[in-house]
Amino acid sequence: MSLSSTLASSKKPISIVTGGAGFLGSHLSDRLLAEGHKVIGIDNLITGSIDNIGHLSGNPDYEFIKHDVTKYLFIPGRVDCIYHFASPASPMDYLELPIQTLKVGALGTHNALGLAKEKNATFLLASTSEVYGDPLIHPQQEDYWGNVNPIGPRGVYDEAKRFAEAITMAYHRYHGIDTKIVRIFNTYGPRMRLKDGRVVPAFIGQALEGEPLTVFGDGSQTRSFCFVSDLIDGIFRLSMHATHNPVNIGNPGEMTIKQFAEKVLSLLDTKSAIEYRPLPEDDPKVRQPDIGLAKELLGWEPKVSFDEGLEATIDYFRGRVEPTAGVEGTSTL
Ligand code: UDP
Repeated sequence: MSLSSTLASSKKPISIVTGGAGFLGSHLSDRLLAEGHKVIGIDNLITGSIDNIGHLSGNPDYEFIKHDVTKYLFIPGRVDCIYHFASPASPMDYLELPIQTLKVGALGTHNALGLAKEKNATFLLASTSEVYGDPLIHPQQEDYWGNVNPIGPRGVYDEAKRFAEAITMAYHRYHGIDTKIVRIFNTYGPRMRLKDGRVVPAFIGQALEGEPLTVFGDGSQTRSFCFVSDLIDGIFRLSMHATHNPVNIGNPGEMTIKQFAEKVLSLLDTKSAIEYRPLPEDDPKVRQPDIGLAKELLGWEPKVSFDEGLEATIDYFRGRVEPTAGVEGTSTL
């Protein structure tokens, strides 16, 4: 790994974003650059994509390092803040990459915390609403400990993130590291992978391609979708706040998956119809963030309406599918 001397000698804050070429990591990098940071993105590109950061090539404040954060991490010079976002994050990805998911949540978080300790840097962990598992409390507040099946197929992600939270708090308590933990609820927007298996790209892609929308189970399970710019704003605010305890960031607007499918069908002039498929094991029945803490501590709440966010996301995906004859591909928004 090499680091340009211009970056290392900068007076601007220097931030590292692991998972820097991912959906969230790339948007976070954009925001940090806009806030006057120098940014070092680290990614092994197993689920991230260089396309997400292509626009940053040639930016003197940005450097990309292709590296697997589960392996020892050496970065010369000053580092002020580490944002640890590296992980497969779609259920399809972490079912296909179970060991990598466990390793990046455990070994990767350990390495990133070790670097924070070495550099005396602030550390922000990207955690997840999955720490609540299939929740028995609704909506989910930060003081709920969750209902997770440790040996189920989703356990590789849920338990890795729970371990990541535990080791982050241990580094805070034992080593005095300035740590933050954000619990991220379902987020959507441009730069998601069309075929990552998550419901937003899945349904939009299927509708644009004129394929059936694959609703798992009877579609009565709920999710609450947050547009990416809102999420990144909450995370940026949290990175500057003194709290060390986890904070939920998400949009409380809850809907069933069937309602979401119907919404996508109503927005796109498509011949697609709903097709029901088996519900994956341990799929949470409900999910909705209680964002009272984020409002109180950060003065944050989401601003982008679902229609606005979906329109931007549909526009992004429209250029990435090959529509069949059954689709006009026009949004009625
Ligand atoms: N889902 C679905 N069809 C799909 C993909 C997902 O019905 O093609 C459902 C999935 O079973 C879950 C919800 O949509 O109940 C959200 O799934 P996603 O993979 O986006 O993330 P999760 O919230 O489960 O982590």
